[in-house]
Formats: sequence, C-alpha cells, structure tokens
Amino acid sequence: MTDRVEVAGVDVSVDHFIGGERVASAVAFTDISPIDAEPVAEVARGGAAEADLAVSAARDAFPAWAALGPRGRAEHLHRLADLVDANVDRLAAVECVDMAMLLRSLRARVIARGARNFRSYADLAAAHEERVWSSGGTANRVIRMPSGPAVVITPWNAPFMLSTWKTAPALAAGCTVVLKPAEWSPLSCSLLADLVDEAGFPPGVFNVVQGIGEEVGAALTAHPDVRRISFTGSPETARHIGIAAARTIVPFTGELGGKGPLLVFADCDLEAAARTAAGQYDDAGQVCLAGTRLLVEERVAERFLELFHRLVDAHVLGDPRDDATTVTPLIHPDHLARVEGFVERARAAGDEIVRGGRRSDAGPLLYEPTLVVPCSNDAEIVQREVFGPVLTFQTFTDEEEAVALADSTAYGLSAVVFTGSAERAQRVGRAVRAGTVWVNAYLVRDLTAPFGGIGISGIGREGGDYALDFYSDLKTVQIADDTTA
Ligand code: NAD
Repeated sequence: MTDRVEVAGVDVSVDHFIGGERVASAVAFTDISPIDAEPVAEVARGGAAEADLAVSAARDAFPAWAALGPRGRAEHLHRLADLVDANVDRLAAVECVDMAMLLRSLRARVIARGARNFRSYADLAAAHEERVWSSGGTANRVIRMPSGPAVVITPWNAPFMLSTWKTAPALAAGCTVVLKPAEWSPLSCSLLADLVDEAGFPPGVFNVVQGIGEEVGAALTAHPDVRRISFTGSPETARHIGIAAARTIVPFTGELGGKGPLLVFADCDLEAAARTAAGQYDDAGQVCLAGTRLLVEERVAERFLELFHRLVDAHVLGDPRDDATTVTPLIHPDHLARVEGFVERARAAGDEIVRGGRRSDAGPLLYEPTLVVPCSNDAEIVQREVFGPVLTFQTFTDEEEAVALADSTAYGLSAVVFTGSAERAQRVGRAVRAGTVWVNAYLVRDLTAPFGGIGISGIGREGGDYALDFYSDLKTVQIADDTTA
C-alpha cells in the first residue's frame, strides 16, 4: 500500500523507499509549498525503526554492489543519468512547488546537473587506475575498497542537485546509500527513488528515508552498521553529527554554511561586479556559496552602489513559475521569521538598513532584497549566515584591508573577487581563506575540483577523486619483489 500525491501534475510517493519498495510510516509530517505557504503533502515520518530497516537493506545489498566493480556500477549510473535527463520537466515542476527555486533555472540547469553528477562519477570511478610503485624491495599498490553503507543527509536548498552530488560518488565508489532529504523539501528525492527503481538498481543499493532531522537523521547517524556519513547543512547540525560519528568512529564530511565576501577592486569591470552582486538575491539568497558581504574599494563605492541599486530595482519578486520573477519566496515561515530576526536585530543595534528590510506584499513568504551597512565588522549581520536576501556593504582602502575583511568571519566556504589585474587575481586568490575563490567569475564549477569549506564552513572535501576516496577504504598492498608465482 503506497501513499501518493499529485504535485504540479506529477504523481509523487510520500513514503520511504527501502530495499527497493515503498514503505509507509504510522505518522507523517506536513510539507508546505513556499509559493503560497499551503500544505502540499503529508509525508511519511520515519524514526529509529525506519532508519534501522533502511541501513539493514543497505548493508545486505552492499557485498554484491561492491563486487560489481566500477564498470558494472557505471552502467547503472549512466542509465539513471539518462532517466534524470528524460524527466527534467517533472523533477523541475515538483521541486519548484516544493522549494520555490525559479522554474526556468531548474529546467535549464539545476536538474540537469543531477544527471551530470551521476555521469561524471560513473566515468571517473571506472577510469581510476590503482597507484603502483616500487620501494624497499616491494611493489606497493593502493587499492580503493568500497566502505559500506553510507548515510547521506541533505539540506532543503537545491535538494535534488545536492542529493545527487553526494549520492553519485558514494554509489560509484561501491557504497550503498541511505539518503535523508530535508523535511522542508523532500519531494524531488522521492522522485529520484522512482528513477533509481526504473534504472534497475538492485534493491537496497539506494534507499530514501523521510523525516525530521533530530528523529530519523539522528537515528541514521548513530546506527552501528553505517560506514560513512556525508552531510550538507548548517554548522549547528554538523556538531551533532560529528558527535554521533565519533561514537561509532565513522568518517564524516560536512559541507556547511557560508558568509562569503564579494570583493570589488577599483580596477575591475564595475558593471560586471554590480551585476554579480545584485544576483546574490537569486534564490532569495538561500545559497551557501553566495557572496553576501559586499566589500568595495572606497574610491569606486559610490559608482558601484549606483549601478547595484539600479540592477536591484529591476528585480521582480514573485512566483518562481513566472518568467518575469527574479527573486523567489523563502522556504518556510520559520525561515522567514529567522531572516526577519537578523534584520530587526541589526536595526536595533544601529546598523543602517539601506534598502529592503521588510516583507513584500507580493506573496506570503517574500522578503525584499535588503542591504545593510553595519556599524562595525563585529556586527551579527556581518558575522553570521542569514541565508536570505540580505547583503551587507562595507568599504576598504587597500588590498591588505580587503583580504583582512574577507577573512574576518569564522566561515570560509567561498569568495568572489572582481579585479582587472592578473597579478592581483593571483595574489588575492591565494591569500583569501576559502575553499573556493572565484575571480571575475561566479558559480562555475569543474566537478573534478575539490569542493568544501574552511573553518565552520566544513570538514573534508567533495568533488572528483576527493569524494571517491572518502567513500573508500584505501588499502596499501606491499608484495616483496622476490615473491614467486
Ligand atoms: P540543517 O542543518 O538544519 O539541516 C540539514 C539536514 O540535516 C536536514 O536534512 C535535517 O533534517 C538534518 N538534521 C537536522 N538535525 C539533525 C540531527 N540531529 N541529526 C541528523 N540530521 C539532522 O540545514 P538546512 O537549514 O536544511 O540548510 C541550510 C544550511 O545548509 C545553511 O547553513 C547552508 O549554508 C548549508 N548548505 C551548505 C552547502 C555546502 O555545499 N556547503 C550547500 C547547501 C546548503
């Protein structure tokens, strides 16, 4: 017996996907759409029992999946990638209602990135050559052994893309997976389970368990049969997961929050810098990699602000399905209240709210693009991640001050730099403390490059071989040169 709902004309299961079958729970949680703040679905709310069922299914499926080898697994992953491509419109329509990302972005690139994740990891794992060298009278060989069942826990922003980004290397490396999507946007991951089934994956290789983080998420991370935990979310939750991982002595990676600087040097293409800055309100600023602290060289600050305000004035707040919309609703009323709280505290502390700073009348969860000039660099609005359409504006006089300001928070996920100088691009790119630095670019990614954060922005690296190594136990086999046949 499965429970299904129709969302944006698409049939979606609200049950877990465990051992190749849909599994219901006795209790449910309510999933709302950010577009109208109305309920979309009552979703199965898993607990310790469902966590155990899913990890057991993943444990049982592991030996055969690991034994299939990278090329055998790649065939499954390619079939899945093809199915993602064939279902872009359905996935985009559901994720748009569930998470309120712009429908045109979902259709044009975000969902397709899921297919790219599966393809690129299938190919990378299959092309892997073991490292072999001679030393001390032995032949050394480094072997990647698949680790076992992996728990993957994802946040509510870009849920499909982020879930595939973590699941793809796990499956390619030979791990089996239990995915726990966020409770505010679980539906596109349920569709992913349907596609995995259609692609013919053996039962138990990929499982989805829905529910509340503190309930089923905590049960999954504490399970003794789990061999890897891959988490994307907030630093606060990462601390709980780190403690759970310490108890079972299981490696975990954390892709965590950001408070990225966007540095604008006077020698840059100011229009391009202002355009990128105004674009930080895309997805209502609910982007970990966003450059939310605008740091502008003093002598071009006035001109920059003119350009910036003109571009932000052109933003259209509204329904993510409308072509005219550029700024979308926040995910949930609780998140709106959180964002609002940051701005109200900033106002009360004497920070200047230069624009926005209030809800919009255009929809229940819309918040106006907001710019804050803080009283000091220690202000909460500068130092803590808001994860909403709220940017801060500060100036600097020279490169040294710019880098010092860029590095002045506990975060270190990403940074954006605009400069017309190739030397400065190299210098500042090397100096800034962040996992990713874009110079005269933003959000371009090579999937084989390492990705992750410094400080409270993360632990470990994803991307390319870094992720495949994480999901493997690396073993060195040393065979003496005089070993005879
Ligand atoms: P969150 O930490 O509240 O939740 C993330 C996931 O963890 C959810 O699935 C949640 O159910 C689960 N969870 C919560 N408590 C748990 C527990 N005790 N044990 C196990 N699981 C638990 O984060 P969020 O609000 O969903 O997402 C926003 C955060 O994610 C922001 O900080 C953002 O910057 C970050 N993020 C980072 C990246 C990156 O790549 N670095 C990407 C996207 C989002």
